[in-house]
Amino acid sequence: MSAKYIFVTGGVVSSLGKGLAAASIGCIMESRGLKVALQKFDPYLNVDPGTMSPFQHGEVFVTDDGAETDLDLGHYERFTHSKLSRDNNWTTGRIYEMIIAKERRGDYLGKTVQVIPHVTNEIKSAMKKVAQDVDLVIIEIGGTVGDIESLPFIEAIRQMRQELGRESTLFVHVTLVPYIAAAGELKTKPTQHSVKELLSVGIQPDILLCRTDRFLSKDIKSKIALFCNVEENAVITAKDVASIYEVPLVFAREGVDRLALRYLHMDAREPDLSKWEDLVHRVYNPKDEVSIGIVGKYVEYEDSYKSLKEALVHSALLYNLKLNVNWIEAEGLEAKDQSVQAQLEHADGILVPGGFGKRGIEGMLKGIQYARENKVPFFGICLGMQTACVEFARHVCGLEQANSSEFDPATPHRVIYKLRELRGVEELGGTMRLGAWTCKLEPDTLAHSAYGQNEISERHRHRYEFNREYEDMLTAGGLRISGSTPDGTYVEIVEIADHPYFLGCQFHPEFKSKPLEPHPLFSAFVKASYENRLRRQHQREEVAVELFHRPEKVKH
Ligand code: GLN
Repeated sequence: MSAKYIFVTGGVVSSLGKGLAAASIGCIMESRGLKVALQKFDPYLNVDPGTMSPFQHGEVFVTDDGAETDLDLGHYERFTHSKLSRDNNWTTGRIYEMIIAKERRGDYLGKTVQVIPHVTNEIKSAMKKVAQDVDLVIIEIGGTVGDIESLPFIEAIRQMRQELGRESTLFVHVTLVPYIAAAGELKTKPTQHSVKELLSVGIQPDILLCRTDRFLSKDIKSKIALFCNVEENAVITAKDVASIYEVPLVFAREGVDRLALRYLHMDAREPDLSKWEDLVHRVYNPKDEVSIGIVGKYVEYEDSYKSLKEALVHSALLYNLKLNVNWIEAEGLEAKDQSVQAQLEHADGILVPGGFGKRGIEGMLKGIQYARENKVPFFGICLGMQTACVEFARHVCGLEQANSSEFDPATPHRVIYKLRELRGVEELGGTMRLGAWTCKLEPDTLAHSAYGQNEISERHRHRYEFNREYEDMLTAGGLRISGSTPDGTYVEIVEIADHPYFLGCQFHPEFKSKPLEPHPLFSAFVKASYENRLRRQHQREEVAVELFHRPEKVKH
């Protein structure tokens, strides 16, 4: 049987959580035994988000095949087992890039190339491509209905309904039902307008996912149903929740999956969300907490570190802990009048994540030095691993001017330098070392004991690498290279043995962490951080007991 399609659009405002909605529907459908694929179309003209600033776009999510994609794909992978690749994320820019290449080759045989049918045909064939071997394809259309940019995508899904019929296509529209405090009421008008907007381009939504901060009463639901021409039970309360991992449970309770299956004439077993229920139970019933300080350069925009934050949450939940993240602006650690200690002492563990460019590097180095010298668990990811090597070279091996040539091209000690195969490559789009690479782990290392495997595969996105000319000097100082590519070319993991937990990796483990399968490196780091918390607590208590028993000690 050929796959059926669920199209997810959004209206009223952006950031309503279409990506999470699509991922959550996928999650429930998988728990019903269906095989799902997820795909996203982004209306902007960049070929991919790889060249966009993290402040503009948030995190760039990297897939195994090295595609630089939208962060919603991270949600898809965390909530489902959908295998994602560059076929699962398309931008207007990439569709047009393909069409223009075809046009230049003469593939259109002299025809006028137009939005309809040429652009819409490319969009539809991209949709059909991911429908092989699955029961259900869930496709998110980025942007907000009414935007000029997203029109070709909306037109393409209209044509998909025309081609495949009602029983094979379903339109889910995510909308907003705001509570207006002054009136003491939930307002349905924005939803009505956004459905009208969809109707004007030929799409009647089947299901409305209404984002709201409270449950929709029967009255409100029937009013929306009447004005928007949908069944009353197709008006779904998509209530705000404290944890994103609760969304599948909320949707299942509202019966989204049952309704979708009925509309699509599909049979499936009852959903089994017990693992998600258990996870959410742990979210609300932590036994203790752990605080992680993240020293980065994009900290004022948390979306830049989406997968990273989620990976920490997954591991904290594994140990039944509530995660507190202290976002620490790297540049803030550079100022002479600011004490590094004051900014970092509340963190049980310190993490330096990925990043590009010179800004904030000296602050990161101070954070790393603090973690290394004070035996605070440290985890460096990509840029964090590179700066950890620079810090070690400077302060342990005495190479005061050590640096990465990314930040100081004239440094006499290029501990980190441009990837050898990228020398001379000036173009920025898609030219990094990207995607999955195998890494061999050394026995008796933190990395090996965390993974419990000799070989691993992790995703990369970088332009600079560890310079093996400095290997002997750094390892003589106590740095250990615990993971490399099997041919020995690239250094992938470094650690310090004489420390409770100090590890840096060149790849991005956060992309592969899932709520039900936390990533081993994150789990090892969170565990070490929690142990550090307990140790510090214990020390404080001992001091307190001592003061209590010997009051003369505190007399002035
Ligand atoms: N800027 C560094 C590089 O290009 C680190 C990249 C990253 O952290 N993703 O190698």
